[in-house]
Amino acid sequence: MAVDYYAVLDVPRDATVEQIKKAYRRLARELHPDVNPAEEERFKEVTKAYEVLSDPQKRELHDLGADPFSTGGGFGSGFGFSDIMDAFFGGQASARGPRSRQRRGQDALIRVQIDLSEATFGTTKDLQVETATTCPTCTGQGTAPGTSPKVCDICRGQGQVQQVTRSFLGQVMTARPCAACQGFGTVIPNPCVECGGDGRVRTRRTLKVKIPPGVDGGTRIQLAGEGEAGPGGGPPGDLFVEIVERRHPLFQRSGDDLHCTVSVAMTAAALGTSIELETLDGPRTVEVRPGTQSGQSVTLPGLGVQHLRGAGRGELVAHIEVLTPTRLDAEQEDLLRRLAAMRGEEGSNGQVATEQGLFSRLRDAFNGR
Ligand SMILES: [Zn+2]
Ligand SMILES: [Zn+2]
Repeated sequence: MAVDYYAVLDVPRDATVEQIKKAYRRLARELHPDVNPAEEERFKEVTKAYEVLSDPQKRELHDLGADPFSTGGGFGSGFGFSDIMDAFFGGQASARGPRSRQRRGQDALIRVQIDLSEATFGTTKDLQVETATTCPTCTGQGTAPGTSPKVCDICRGQGQVQQVTRSFLGQVMTARPCAACQGFGTVIPNPCVECGGDGRVRTRRTLKVKIPPGVDGGTRIQLAGEGEAGPGGGPPGDLFVEIVERRHPLFQRSGDDLHCTVSVAMTAAALGTSIELETLDGPRTVEVRPGTQSGQSVTLPGLGVQHLRGAGRGELVAHIEVLTPTRLDAEQEDLLRRLAAMRGEEGSNGQVATEQGLFSRLRDAFNGR
């Protein structure tokens, strides 16, 4: 469909010649270049509309979807060949019409590094975001202030050009996007200087992003409408903030549980002890029962990471590593030998765990002993 001259003159499609004249006079008074130089393009458009709609022949062609101002084609009448084809075929080849300059912007992705404590309790981050935003000078239209796009001369506003080719079926009409206007149907004769006609400029801004407790590496937070602005003043895409979690020097995260290793001297493991552990919630005491074996663990419930969905937190698991003393001095060695003798463990080179022993150790592990 070419330019709708009824819309240009703001008259109904069944307007009488008198109504069309009246509408033109009113608009011409308002838009005449002597009165309003900035509106020159619109004045021309309105005049063109009047010329067409006041002439019954041209009006009929326009109603059939053709543009009576076509200059192409070899017909001396001033009407292009394809216009005539349009008139005969009801403009079916141009039914798709020009494409809009306005499109939705793309989604954008940025990554943010947080530490374990921030993942556990949530945080708010100031993020530097660089995306396309709507050009403030032309508000996305791409035209220099005071100017407007004009109808493409090549495709006469249809956004596509038609070709008639001969085939065994007879004449076939095909349409391809107009190269002169990239299919928009209009060209911008005076592009906005700030954005070069794209309607967008790149802007760096600081965005406050709320990061909820419980996020993990790879979690994406979606911020609707904070992505790239769309071309031609189109709506923006979304911004995705992807979480990257820094390694913690002490705790390894597994789901919402945290794990760490606590080293205990052999004697302390045998006699029992309590160890102060600096958790994400401050210092907590890890109770090591007498007779604790290397590899056993102590669980501190509720000190892990907050569940992202649902209430509650994971647990903190302290894995006990029993340290066997090395470099004993003579007195210490003597003491240990006496202990071994007392326990009947002299000369024992260790023993293979019996099934019984293995099961009881497994049971101990399950019971947290
Ligand atoms: Zn601009
Ligand atoms: Zn064009």
